[in-house]
Amino acid sequence: MDAFAGAEVPQPDPNPAAEVKPMVRYKGVTKSFGDLQVLKGIDLEMQPGEKVAVIGPSGSGKTTMGRMLMTLEEPTEGTIEVDGELLWHMQEKGRLVRANEKHLHRMRCSVGMVFQHFNLFPHMSVLRNVTEAPRKVLGLSKEEAEERAVSMLGKVGLDDKLKMYPANLSGGQKQRVAIARALVMRPKVMVFDEVTSALDPELVGEVLEVIREIAEEGDMAMMLITHEMDFAKEIADRVIFGADGLIVEQGTPEEIFDNPRSERLQNFLQRFR
Ligand code: ADP
Repeated sequence: MDAFAGAEVPQPDPNPAAEVKPMVRYKGVTKSFGDLQVLKGIDLEMQPGEKVAVIGPSGSGKTTMGRMLMTLEEPTEGTIEVDGELLWHMQEKGRLVRANEKHLHRMRCSVGMVFQHFNLFPHMSVLRNVTEAPRKVLGLSKEEAEERAVSMLGKVGLDDKLKMYPANLSGGQKQRVAIARALVMRPKVMVFDEVTSALDPELVGEVLEVIREIAEEGDMAMMLITHEMDFAKEIADRVIFGADGLIVEQGTPEEIFDNPRSERLQNFLQRFR
């Protein structure tokens, strides 16, 4: 990360009113795990409220892109901003340096992520799974956290399961708890990473329905990493096709699904027909 020390500080836009400030901005982002370069230079902007679906073959770096936004992986090169603030870096004495823990912690709260395998706390009730972060991270009182949590669990249709434990829930219910747990922090951006891939087919619909409702509320930017092509087509404003660590093609759902330009995307989509 020392590569960033002394890097040029980006200058403010001379005419900031001319464009809407993006909610998310990846600039020249690369990521390597040892010798394996997983991302080879990603430039991506997401506007406030924009729903972006990320599709592409397994191993093309989609999850890694999402995990970076959630600060679970650090970029090897490049910068990521959320709502105009650098996620992994900060400015110190006019220089771009690696973010300290305090800055990272603050920025981490602006992004929520839901994972393929739920990642619920197995020893905690549904209610406690959802109140834990608001209490520990946001410092809310038990009453405030529970009020927020119950309201959010109502939104995902689980306010009658507050005292249950994850082991006694179906996969679809577990995933809805995980969604409530992320939303209760009131993030600016949500990342949904293959959230239906581990579910039995009959449970996929209830989870997609919850995501559809959140999307329809409109104001939150959403990154939806998915193999559910019909769903991506239905709710995304823009679809990104990634392969081999690069964004190969992007456009509206109609452009990507009905008129794919690159052979790579055409071949990829064949598998879903
Ligand atoms: P996708 O979501 O498109 O399937 P991923 O971002 O999960 O792709 O993974 C891209 C590549 O990076 C894969 O080859 C994967 O094995 C590798 N990878 C991901 N995370 C790690 C890690 N922590 N350590 C080593 N390799 C990793």
